[in-house]
Amino acid sequence: MAVYEHDVLVIGGGLAGMRAAIAAQQLGADVAMVSKVHPVRSHSNAAQGGINGPGVGEDGGPWEEHAFETTKASDYLGDQDAITVLAQDGGGEVLQMEHWGVVFSRKPDGRMAVRRFGGMGKARTFFVGAITGQAILHVLYEQLMHPARFKAMRMYEEWFVTSLIVDDGQCRGCVALNIRTGELHAITAKATIVCTGGLGRVYEPSTNALICTGDGIAQAYRVGAPIMDMEMVQIHPTTLKGTGVLITEGARGEGAYLLNKDGERFMQKYAPNMMELASRDVVSRAEQTEIDEGRDVDGCVFLDMRHLGEQLIKERLEEIYEIARDLVNIDIAKELLPILPGVHYIMGGIKTDVDGLTPVPGLYSAGEAACVSVHGANRVGANSLLDTLVFGRRAAEHAVPWLQGKAFRPVPESVVEKDRAMIRGILDRPMNGDRVAKIRRDMGVSMSANVGIFRVPERLNKQVDELKALRARYEKVGVEDKGKVFNTDLLFHIELGYMLDCADMITKSAIERKESRGAHTRLDYPDRNDAEWLKHIVLTKQPDGSEKMSYLPVTITQWQPQERKY
Ligand SMILES: Cc1cc2nc3c(=O)[nH]c(=O)nc-3n(C[C@H](O)[C@H](O)[C@H](O)COP(=O)(O)OP(=O)(O)OC[C@H]3O[C@@H](n4cnc5c(N)ncnc54)[C@H](O)[C@@H]3O)c2cc1C
Repeated sequence: MAVYEHDVLVIGGGLAGMRAAIAAQQLGADVAMVSKVHPVRSHSNAAQGGINGPGVGEDGGPWEEHAFETTKASDYLGDQDAITVLAQDGGGEVLQMEHWGVVFSRKPDGRMAVRRFGGMGKARTFFVGAITGQAILHVLYEQLMHPARFKAMRMYEEWFVTSLIVDDGQCRGCVALNIRTGELHAITAKATIVCTGGLGRVYEPSTNALICTGDGIAQAYRVGAPIMDMEMVQIHPTTLKGTGVLITEGARGEGAYLLNKDGERFMQKYAPNMMELASRDVVSRAEQTEIDEGRDVDGCVFLDMRHLGEQLIKERLEEIYEIARDLVNIDIAKELLPILPGVHYIMGGIKTDVDGLTPVPGLYSAGEAACVSVHGANRVGANSLLDTLVFGRRAAEHAVPWLQGKAFRPVPESVVEKDRAMIRGILDRPMNGDRVAKIRRDMGVSMSANVGIFRVPERLNKQVDELKALRARYEKVGVEDKGKVFNTDLLFHIELGYMLDCADMITKSAIERKESRGAHTRLDYPDRNDAEWLKHIVLTKQPDGSEKMSYLPVTITQWQPQERKY
């Protein structure tokens, strides 16, 4: 077993991880990054619509406006101290990206263009066509790799983290499998920043990449870090029929309509002021209601972009044009696009403070894996990219001064041996007719059916039983590939274990929250109940393996909860 030592270990090469790594390097730390895929293949690469830029020129608008809209969209579950940090620091991050070389889309006069996103009172979202995430991710990677600016960094590319190491009450790095060799190693660090992204694939269908399996959230849970707001799963209003592929909110931001089978712009009934650009939870519920009440065609409603004109579509929504053409053979400049709501984002995650720190010393988290919480019960579009940059940087800026003067502590060989035994157990298991892929699919479909947009106790409780049965199957299922080199069969198996942990947490928290707030709609408790539920639900694994459910108050600074109307 090789043991590697670094000051700061960043797990994840998406936007949060890259931003954290750059900030740590700038402060002179010895930094390592580990990612199960090449970093620019992280899901951040798929972000289409844009990034909010509070305080960036007139268009970005005053930070207070952005903070209020974020708070309102969160259905007042977001912590307002954290939202204030996001809004105050956010503009600087967007400008930093522009200065590092992100080629934002422009207005004719050369200034950065903006589009309007759901839940926002005005257009304040900056974008690069419909490839905003890709543009930023590649620029950050360039910065990270630039020899003139940053000293060499150790990149553990295509290494798969199997667990976090917590020894003597502190996080000391991780155990990781070198996918190319199949060998396990300890990568030790004085500070570890978990930036492993979301868990969208716990549901099927989902807009998320296949690699979004909640690994870091489950790993942090397993070492006793608190996990918060897991019932808050964002369902995006527009995913493409039959594929789950995202059709960016930017399309509605550019003026697209939603129509039912009768050609009616049904959002008039649900959000007469903001229409298609009401908050995501509101629009998704409206669509699902239209579908459930039979005003659908084959389980879908329609996105109408015909009136936008071919020129605008090709300039600003080119990727959407191509997705529709290539995947469903539809020309969006001439035809209606069938869409339906689909799982997109997890508002919950590893509970951190505004500096990314968890209660476990040395363990930080940022990005979609973390719950600061700025998104509360419903995330505003284009706030996630902002969140990754602001809190990725802040986590590193807290970690590097914190670790000064701290010594490395050798980790016991037993931490690696434990994971080696787990892997041996999987490889030794005979095939029994079941398959990891099948269990994964059954989990995803049942989560969508039972813990989806509209939640009722019978279905939630049914899902508890389903998950027990799925876990029993999981513990018996083997893998076909018994080899060491690039054994993706094995990785899918380990990922499924993380996903089942996450599915459990989502379902339990959804059962617990007896009200409707943001993305969490309980048909048996249709109203928001601030008297009893203006609080976060937190799950923490105890040293004896049992689970504790507790609550944290929501931090309210200047925006008192009001009824939410769009
Ligand atoms: C299709 C789509 C479009 C979106 N559009 C927008 C948008 O326009 N605006 C916006 O604000 N937000 C958008 N979002 C949300 C936003 O893109 C994500 O929330 C954000 O990019 C997450 O970044 P991250 O750095 O936290 O994680 P990710 O980019 O998901 O990166 C996670 C990293 O962790 C690594 N990792 C995970 N598990 C392991 C493991 N076990 N071992 C080693 N490495 C591991 C992965 O390799 C990867 O490098 C969109 C999301 C999707 C799915």
